[in-house]
Order: sequence, then C-alpha cells, then structure tokens
Amino acid sequence: MTHKNLYPVSQEVARRALLNREQYDAMYRQSIEDPDAFWGEHGKRIDWIKPYSKVKNTSFDPSDVSIKWFEDGELNASANCLDRHLETRGDQTAIIFEGDDPSESRHVTYRELHEETSKFANVLKSLGVKKGDVVTIYMPMIVETAVAMLACARIGAIHSVVFGGFSPEALGARVVNGKSRFVVTADEGLRGGRAIPLKKNVDAALKDREGADVEKVVVVTRTGNESVPWNEGRDERYEELMKTASADCPPEPMNAEDPLFMLYTSGSTGAPKGVLHTTGGYMVYVSMTHEYVFDYHEGDVYWCTADFGWVTGHSYILYGPLCNGATTLLFEGVPSYPDSSRMGQIVDKHQVNTLYTAPTAIRALMAEGEACMSGTTRSSLKLLGSVGEPINPEAWEWYHRVVGNSRCPIVDTWWQTETGGILISPLPGAVDLKPGSATVPFFGVKPGVVDNEGNLLEGKADGNLVILDSWPGQMRTIYGDHDRFIRTYFSAYPGMYFTEDGVRRDEDGDYWITGRVDDVLNISGHRLGTAEVESALVAHDKVAEAAVVGFPHEIKGQGLYVYVTLMQGEEPSDELKKELIQWVRKEIGPIASPDVIQWTPGMPKTRSGKIMRRILRKIAANEYDQLGDTSTLADPGVVDELISSREFK
Ligand code: ATP
Ligand code: MG
Repeated sequence: MTHKNLYPVSQEVARRALLNREQYDAMYRQSIEDPDAFWGEHGKRIDWIKPYSKVKNTSFDPSDVSIKWFEDGELNASANCLDRHLETRGDQTAIIFEGDDPSESRHVTYRELHEETSKFANVLKSLGVKKGDVVTIYMPMIVETAVAMLACARIGAIHSVVFGGFSPEALGARVVNGKSRFVVTADEGLRGGRAIPLKKNVDAALKDREGADVEKVVVVTRTGNESVPWNEGRDERYEELMKTASADCPPEPMNAEDPLFMLYTSGSTGAPKGVLHTTGGYMVYVSMTHEYVFDYHEGDVYWCTADFGWVTGHSYILYGPLCNGATTLLFEGVPSYPDSSRMGQIVDKHQVNTLYTAPTAIRALMAEGEACMSGTTRSSLKLLGSVGEPINPEAWEWYHRVVGNSRCPIVDTWWQTETGGILISPLPGAVDLKPGSATVPFFGVKPGVVDNEGNLLEGKADGNLVILDSWPGQMRTIYGDHDRFIRTYFSAYPGMYFTEDGVRRDEDGDYWITGRVDDVLNISGHRLGTAEVESALVAHDKVAEAAVVGFPHEIKGQGLYVYVTLMQGEEPSDELKKELIQWVRKEIGPIASPDVIQWTPGMPKTRSGKIMRRILRKIAANEYDQLGDTSTLADPGVVDELISSREFK
C-alpha cells in the first residue's frame, strides 16, 4: 500500500486553517513532553463548575490500571453543550434536522435545545431517575434523541444508547447488562421510507427476560401509529410528560471522573464490549479534536452521517460540535433514499461545509457511478472526513474527486469506541495527505508499533498498533467487568494500550492502519494486512468492494480467499477471475495472489457498516457451525447466501 499520490496542503486550505505544520509539531511536542502542562492549559477550553488542580493521574501497569484526568474538577456536560452558549449564540441553530422524507427539515436553536433538555431532565427526575442510574436510549435519529442524551447528562444519569436497528434480543441483552431500569424510545422510526417498530421491539426485548427490571418506558411519538401496544403503568408518553415539565433544571455538578455514558463496540471481532466513558477528560478531548481535526470555524455547518448508536454519533454529532457551539446536522434517513443523490442533495440544501462519513457509504456511492452526484454542486464543502474502516485509496480518490470536486482535503480519522475521540488523523492545514493513510497522531497521543513479542519497533515498521500513554478521552473500564478491560487492552503488551489493529509506519513517520490484527494473513511466512490486498482489488475498475481472509492451505500455511462485489452492471465470469488474480499479482506481488475468488452481491457487515471478516473466515474454512456472535450482523441473509453459493476448490 505505498502511496502513489500525495496531496500537499493547498494554499486555499492553508489560508483558512487553524494550524500549520510548524504549529502542529510544536504543540505535539509539548503535549508529549509535558502532558500535565499541555492538558492543564487546554482543559480550560470547556467550562468547569469547580476548577481542577490535578491534571493527569494514569497508569497502564496491568496490575494496577487506573486512568484519571482532571480528577478533582467538577463540570456538567450538558451545560457545556447548552448553557455556555445561551448568551453568545442562543438564537443560532444548534441542530439542523433533516427527516427521512426530503420535504421535512427544521432548525433547532441553542435556546430551544436548552429548554427542551431542561424539561426532559425534570421529566426523568419525576420518573425516579437518579444520578448514576443507567438510561437506555433506543431511538431513531431525531432531535428528541439528542435531548434525551443531554437530559441524562444534565442530571448525572448514564446513558446507554442502543442503535435503533438492533433486534429485541440485542436490545434486551444490553438492558440487562447495564442493569438499566429506564428506557427511552419512539413509537416507530423512519428509515428509507419504512417504519421501524421500535416500541414493539422494546416490548419484545423486555418480555419475560431474566434480569430485565425496567420500571418506565418513555415513548416519543414519531409516526403516530395508533396500533403501537401500550403497557399501562410502565409506558409514558413523552409529549404528555413534557406539557407540564418545568424548563428550570440546574445542571448537576459532576466530578470529572463520574460516568457520562456507556456504549457497546460494533462487534466486528467478537462479542461487543460495554465501554464506559467519564465526563471531564472526554469533553475536553472531543471538543478539542472536533475543532482541530475538522478545522472548525465559527459558522461552519457540520454534518457527520453516523448514528447516535455509535461512538461517532456521540462524540462528533453531539458532544464535540455542541460543546464548540457548532451547527450540527442530524439526518434521520439513509444515503440511498429516495435515491443515491440524497447525500449531495442534503449538502446543497443545508450548505454543508464539513462532511464526515464512512468508507462503506463511499464505496456504495462509488458502485453507483458518478451519476449519484449529478444535479448537485456540493460547492459549499470545505472538508471531508472518513471513519470506521481503512479507506481504500481508490475510494479515497473518488471521494476527493467526485464528492469534493478535487478541492477538499480528506481527514482519514482512526479511532475506536474505546478511545472516545480521534487519535490518528491529518490536521487539514498542517499535514500533506496520502490516500489510505491516517497520517499523524493527535496531541497527547503516543502511538507505538510492536512486534508479536511486544518489542517496540523504531522508524519504518510493520506490526501491532499500541498507544504508550493515556489521553483524556480514553475509556475507563468495561461496564461491570474491569477484569475484561485489563485482559483485553493491557495484558497483551504490558504497560501499553493494545488497539487490536495492525499498522505500518512509513519512512515519513505516517501511520497506515492495515486491518485487524486477528485478520492479518500469513502467507508462506509473509505478513499481509487485509487492507492492502482489498485496496488493490478495489482499485480495479469493475470491483466495488472486496474482503480478504486467510484459509488453511497445505503448502503456504494460509491461502488467500477473496470475496468480491462487482460494480453495478458488471457480470461475473471466469475470465474476470483470472484478470483479478493477475491484477493483484501486478499491484502487490505474487505473494498476494488470490487462491479462491467468490462473487457476492454483498458482504456481511455490522450494523455500523463494517465488513465482518471473522464470519467470512469461517465460511472460507467450511466452519459454518462456528460463526460466533452474530447479533451485530446487519443482514443475516447475506451469510446464508454466501454459504449456499460457496465454491469448493
Ligand atoms: P469490536 O471491537 O466489537 O470488534 P469494532 O472494533 O468494529 O468492534 P468500533 O469501536 O466501532 O468497534 O471500531 C473501531 C475500529 O474500527 C478500529 O479499531 C479500527 O479497526 C476501525 N477503524 C476506525 N476508523 C478507522 C480508520 N480511519 N482507518 C482504519 N480503521 C479504522
Ligand atoms: Mg474494536
């Protein structure tokens, strides 16, 4: 995956940018050499009810992992997102809501959001929610979801957002795991023109479930479907409760280390982990990364296409942007509805300046061809972002050229639910871009590359990505299972945080994520990252998406099993298989030559859109009965189809 193209910072970008390379280098150096001084100063970017006197108190020692930031400070996250803006920008739009139906949109000001949040915070209190209680939020992408999250934060309740696309089973398991006694939901959600039976799913999730002890379910009316079932005594209507609620609810002073939320990882590599984040460090970190990575300027309209059900929705739709007083766009629907021009349409309609989305969405648009952008200009865009998976260079180039009119830098942001915010990413005015590389660490982040024995590698290197010291946005524990926290992240390489991702550091010191460590291929003794082979395949004109896994091979140890989805209108054939094999040999070398190619109309993905290679690996190895945790799979039908169409070679 060597870079063919380099995109230096353009003059236009440099003129506007918050930082240039020299400034980034100086700030980065200070953040590493003296984290106490650095974060002591930058911690002041948010409002504290009681200022902190201590900054960093952290240890990665496996016998005593402990992470505390700003530990004697007190603050409130919702006050930072709302109250602090009332005087200066009360009438500015905080949220632009764009409905599933393109004819529906509205603007919510900071003052309105503050009022609605305060009221709902009082509602929660009146239902018996106390500081430290876990409130499960199972909602569509509507304004009330933001209100519910902020209202929890306001009274010190811990929100646990469960993606609205999850099944009753997955929802129930999360309610039980979080010992949550309160659920906020909607009658139905709307996505791609279809109603999603959220309330019905809640009922199914809680019915006869051992360990589920839910006292109150608050139901927001979204579609108004009257046939939605009702449990008298347990269920409450949002609109009714809000009618009489007072809009006066002073924010609860929270210790910096009090929990703000828990959230489950995507489940790409196994059973999801219930990640716990606390208040002070998280707010400092997400507001700072939002400002510098997205080069945020007053007045920018900012759109992150993620769902509140994922960490990206928490950090970069809600907390980061609102803490910075930004206008954040909230989209209820999907990019393919009513048709594939929707993304471009929304950008034009709301004059979006920053667009932050995922490789899966970009590849889906790419497969449609450039027609999906026709009829839109996207001339308001200044910056593009990517998150969630490695972005194949071909998809990067397409995103840059077609969506961004060859004008907008792309920030490829590497991070995890566990990290709270972005850890590795270019800063637009400071870093030259290389398609496929997440480039440089953010302030305070000290990445390391280790071999399998845990030796730190210097200079140009290929290995496992670790982080050598704590940063303020780091997760504090796995909810209810601190041992699993230590086992998962701190025992593989003692003294270091293990990311479970593979990485390559190039001659310039830039970082390239090569895929999950579990997915790294070992072909005749050569290590090959999945991202590299997949990117070579996606670079072929006819390939829309590719996933590569290893399978047992008598001679090579591991062979290469490749799943390929073709561009719309392309037909699979044996000639094309041969052509693709030749193509990969030429792009990477004979070592990466695919042994088996299986055509597929779609990949098994998590509900957040990531390819689940662990399932593809089982199919390649004929181990259909050992697929593992499939609760986070978006479309189980894809797996059945892959199994029935599998070829034996
Ligand atoms: P689980 O931990 O349950 O297996 P997950 O790792 O997919 O699921 P998330 O926390 O949503 O859960 O995703 C984080 C992971 O996504 C990272 O560890 C990395 O593998 C991948 N990722 C995110 N952003 C990028 C990026 N810009 N480049 C490459 N990989 C990325
Ligand atoms: Mg993970």
